[in-house]
Amino acid sequence: MSAHIDLRLSGGRVFLHGSGLVAADLLIKDGVLTGIVEPGTPVDATEDVDVTGQYVLPGAIDPHVHLGKDIRVPKDPDDADLETASAAAGGVTSMLVYLMSADPYGEVLEKADRVMAEHARVDYGYHFVLGTDQHLKELPAYVHDLGVSTFKFFMNFRGDEGAYLGMPGNDDGFMYDLLGLAADHQAMINPHPENIELVRRLQGRTFKDPDQPLRSWNAARPPVVEADAQQRVAYLAAATGASVYAVHTSSAAALDVVRRQRAGYPNLFVETCTHYLTLSTESPCGTYGKVNPPLRDPEDVEALWQGMADGSVDTVGSDHNARHRSFKEKDIWTATAGFPGTGVLLPLTLSEGMRRGVPLSRLVDATSTRAAKLFGLYPRKGTIRVGSDADLVVLDPEGGSVIDAQTQYSAAAYTPWQGEQIAPRIVHTLVRGTFALRDGRLTEARAGRFLPRPRSGAAALAAAYEPEEQS
Ligand SMILES: [Zn+2]
Repeated sequence: MSAHIDLRLSGGRVFLHGSGLVAADLLIKDGVLTGIVEPGTPVDATEDVDVTGQYVLPGAIDPHVHLGKDIRVPKDPDDADLETASAAAGGVTSMLVYLMSADPYGEVLEKADRVMAEHARVDYGYHFVLGTDQHLKELPAYVHDLGVSTFKFFMNFRGDEGAYLGMPGNDDGFMYDLLGLAADHQAMINPHPENIELVRRLQGRTFKDPDQPLRSWNAARPPVVEADAQQRVAYLAAATGASVYAVHTSSAAALDVVRRQRAGYPNLFVETCTHYLTLSTESPCGTYGKVNPPLRDPEDVEALWQGMADGSVDTVGSDHNARHRSFKEKDIWTATAGFPGTGVLLPLTLSEGMRRGVPLSRLVDATSTRAAKLFGLYPRKGTIRVGSDADLVVLDPEGGSVIDAQTQYSAAAYTPWQGEQIAPRIVHTLVRGTFALRDGRLTEARAGRFLPRPRSGAAALAAAYEPEEQS
């Protein structure tokens, strides 16, 4: 080969779909992977980086991120800079960010993109949270003109429940119309599944122990709250033909519901989050671990890992949110829900998954490939192949690292996993061939670009279908 290339990664063990880890060198030019060659093949490269013995995986895709101090829209430079620094340091090369507003999304997206285009270190797309009739009317334009094909709907925003986030109340009728529209326009709906009417009844009369904050929070919003909503939206998805992506699935009960519904209607997809795979009501993180849905019991963690292993859990997201630690250092009832997590998504899922013997191919699928396929980014993202973006993470699988808020970079300034020791160490993160993290250190690059996604869900999966593929 004589064509000049920009960068060569030499000596790595490269993850290739269908083959697993293979000794190969990667060639990159203009941000795209242009060659996968045998080690030692002579190539004219501007730069050659030795990654001998290290794993080279497709960059992780975090499908669930909230940015901005009010978790609605990124507004200040550090909303993009610090949180994408966290992502890059953890091997994430693309993130999908929830924008949340009662206003029409044309302007909202413009505002967010001003910050993201200049300061993001990783590629990004958006999901819109819909809640008004005008949103419904504009959905086709969101898909076809703005390149956003996934929409969140808070099933728990009845009456004024969503007022604290500036969202109006709505109901199952709204959801029904939303699902129908999504089906018509090759979009996907990501419902937040909680039945708030159950929560209202339960909150006053359940287990409350100030010394057991996480058990108390779980008791106030138990798995039935989530599973009931999951069941309802899955049924309406089948009735309308919509693709539905169950965000942050936290419990055995909710996973079981989707498994059963899926037997009759396939276009239902399941996301869990890093924290539901690695934290429980017995974790020592206290109110830092307050989140909705709540951290569950250890049996739920086991059930979700079973789902990871058998593929009934499609993806792992972080539900990252950067609200400052001062909002968390309160009692469990007044602390804010949610915490930062995009920086630990890949390292923790790999560490815990490999310890449990989940095949690497499934872990790569759940942290990258499956999200790329479901969100209309495949094969540009989510795989290492010639012609794909050179979004890569290089890691030492046994290098060892300790999770620390300081090296998570988030403005939140804490992590519920503080001090936890994990097996892998992230060495390099490349976003379209540019180092965002090099030798474990963030670089100056702000290479992130907007990712238009003209279809999601079943329509995107059909477009990504490859007959020769086996996983
Ligand atoms: Zn979320």
